[in-house]
Amino acid sequence: MKTIGVLGAGQLARMLALAGIPLGFKFLYVDPSHSSPASLLGEQIVAPFEDATALQKLADSSDLITYEFENIPVSVVRKLAQTRSVFPPPIALESSQDRLLEKQFFNQHGIDTAPFYPVDDQASLEHAIAVLKLPLILKTRRFGYDGKGQFLVKSLEDAITAFNQLGQKGIIAEGFVKFDRELSCIAVRGIDGATFFYPLVENFHHQGILRLSLAPALVHNSDLNLQASAQVGRILQALDYVGILAVEFFEKEGRLIANEMAPRVHNSGHWTIEGAETSQFENHIRAVAGLPLGDPKPRGFSAMINIIGSMPDATKVLKIPGAHLHDYGKEPRAGRKLGHLTIRADSLEELNRTLQENLNLLPLETAKQWQNRLNR
Ligand code: AMP
Repeated sequence: MKTIGVLGAGQLARMLALAGIPLGFKFLYVDPSHSSPASLLGEQIVAPFEDATALQKLADSSDLITYEFENIPVSVVRKLAQTRSVFPPPIALESSQDRLLEKQFFNQHGIDTAPFYPVDDQASLEHAIAVLKLPLILKTRRFGYDGKGQFLVKSLEDAITAFNQLGQKGIIAEGFVKFDRELSCIAVRGIDGATFFYPLVENFHHQGILRLSLAPALVHNSDLNLQASAQVGRILQALDYVGILAVEFFEKEGRLIANEMAPRVHNSGHWTIEGAETSQFENHIRAVAGLPLGDPKPRGFSAMINIIGSMPDATKVLKIPGAHLHDYGKEPRAGRKLGHLTIRADSLEELNRTLQENLNLLPLETAKQWQNRLNR
């Protein structure tokens, strides 16, 4: 039986194992946190990602290695890649860890982004404001997630406050995009270069955290899915990518503007577990293990609702038609992703009706945003 080594043992690793175990794989994780969500499904080495002994054990005991978390030091992944196959390739991790390099990479491959400018001192901050104009967004180049490490800047005073809070260097200023909606494209590429794209997904964020994904996204312009797959296809080729890649876009007047990419399975792809012929998790395992990829075709219509802060009563939510509950087994904490609920339906009308009856599962603003979209 082959062993897949995973850097990280959070919910993404857990769902990878839930997809990989039926295919005959064993799982071994390295993660610094005790009682991680994936630890029930294989062996976990509890150690920091840089721990040389833990990494040696991971390399010795695994047939191949993947990761569920993009803030792992690239040096760790490169070291592992000297003796074991590591997918997605380390170059993908490196390009996605720094927002400046990532945006430059997108532009080099003909993919539009918001205009951006690096900020490393007061002079470059002033220059960025002069070039990009207000409002703009200041973000840390590295280690930001779920809206953390970023500020919307509307005035010069805001800019100074954000600049100081972000540490005065290693910052990127981005023009504020007045987007119509947020979309993501999940793609998978195999070792042989075979590539599949899931349909675009529409995402609703609140306080920087994904709350709701609708799949497939309704597209009035049938060209949009083609635009996304052409762009993401270029990224996959350029990186000689293997595994699942997620790219987040803004849509503005029928045009796609790339925001960021994640070289891993992605929260906006969780709907694929019940809502697609082959889930993103199964396809990631198939890709990294060199197996034929599965059909990404959607099964009807899905809404994925993230569960943040506290788990709902399972005896209630499981009465919702088409509902599937995923509890990651994490300790409840304000703002923490504890699980998700996917509602699947055969028709869009049925999905909308079920969502309408269960809007209490969403933050008020997300519910309003969804209703506004419905009424357009
Ligand atoms: P990020 O951490 O880059 O994924 O940003 C989190 C959220 O902030 C995004 O999902 C958007 O809702 C918003 N956002 C990020 N960058 C921009 C931008 N340049 N213009 C407008 N909104 C943005």
